[in-house]
Amino acid sequence: DLLVVGSANADLVIGVDRRPGAGETVLGSGLSVHPGGKGANQAVAAARLGARVALLARVGADAHGELLLESQRAAGVDTVGVLVGDGPTGVAVITVDGAGDNSIVVSPGANARLAPQDIRAAGSLLAAARVVSVQLEIPAETVAEVTRSLAPGARLVLNASPPAALAPEVLAACDPLVVNEHEALALLGGHPAGDSTDPGTWASALLSRGPRSVVVTLGAAGALAAGRHGTFTVPAPRVTVVDTTGAGDAFTGALAWRLSTGDGLEAAVRYAVRVGAAACAGAGAQSSFPRAGDAEGLGEG
Ligand code: ADP
Repeated sequence: DLLVVGSANADLVIGVDRRPGAGETVLGSGLSVHPGGKGANQAVAAARLGARVALLARVGADAHGELLLESQRAAGVDTVGVLVGDGPTGVAVITVDGAGDNSIVVSPGANARLAPQDIRAAGSLLAAARVVSVQLEIPAETVAEVTRSLAPGARLVLNASPPAALAPEVLAACDPLVVNEHEALALLGGHPAGDSTDPGTWASALLSRGPRSVVVTLGAAGALAAGRHGTFTVPAPRVTVVDTTGAGDAFTGALAWRLSTGDGLEAAVRYAVRVGAAACAGAGAQSSFPRAGDAEGLGEG
C-alpha cells in the first residue's frame, strides 16, 4: 500500500485582471474554493489511478476540513489517518491574473500541528506501507519522524516542496528525492552545480548529498532521474496545456504509487511523466488528475 503523509489545504482562488502590488486593492472575480495541499493532492492523484492509498494529515473541525475529507473519500483515499482538530484547516489564498500567473499565500493552520506524536500513533498505517510519500508543508521534525518510522524494506519518496534544508538522516532515506527545477536549485544553494544549466549536473550533486536516487521534473521536457544504475531522462508527451497547477503533485503521486506496486524507478518515472502531462490538460489541481486509462492514452513525447 501507499501512505501519503502531508498537507491538506483549502485553495481559495480569486481571478484578477492584475495582481495587486504593495498597498494596492483590486477587485476580483467570485471566490472559488477547491481542495488542495500537496499531501492531499498526491493522495488523490494516486487513488484516481487505482492505488490503495491512505492519507495521514491534519485538518480543522471546520467546513474546509469537511471539503478535504469529502474530496479524499470521493477519490477513494483511505481517510482513517486524517486527524481533525488542533487549529483551522490550512488555506492557500491564491490570486490568478489573466496571463495565468499567480501569487499564493499559505496559512498552514492544522498542517503545522501534524506532530511526530501523530506519526508514532499511526503505527498500523506505517506498518502497512510499502512506500511512504512526504512533502515539506508539514513540520520538519514530523518529516524526520516519518523517516524513522518506515517499516523494514519500505521506501520513502520525498518531494522537497516547498524547498527547505533536509537533515542528513532524512536525505539518506530518500529513494527518490523528487524536485522540480526551482527546488533543485534552491536545495543546491551555493553549490557550483547550481551554476550549471544541466539538470543531470544538479541531480549528481544532489545524489552526492546522500539520497539513494534523485528525480528532477522538467515541466514540458519531462523528467530526469539519477540513481545507482546511472541517469536517464524521460520526455513528456506533448499536450495542449490548460493549467499546470498540481502537475508536480500528480507526478509524485503516480510515481509513489507505481513504486509501491513494485515497479523499478525507470518504469515508475515513465508512468509518472505521462500522468503529470495529463494533469496539465485540464483546469485546476485535483479536478485535472487523470484516471488510469487517460494517461496511457496520451501520445509519445
Ligand atoms: P511542478 O508542477 O512541481 O512545477 P513540473 O513543472 O516539472 O513540476 O511538472 C511536473 C511534471 O508534469 C513534468 O515532469 C511533466 O511530466 C508534467 N508537465 C508539466 N508541464 C508540462 C507541459 N507543459 N507539457 C507536458 N507535461 C508537463
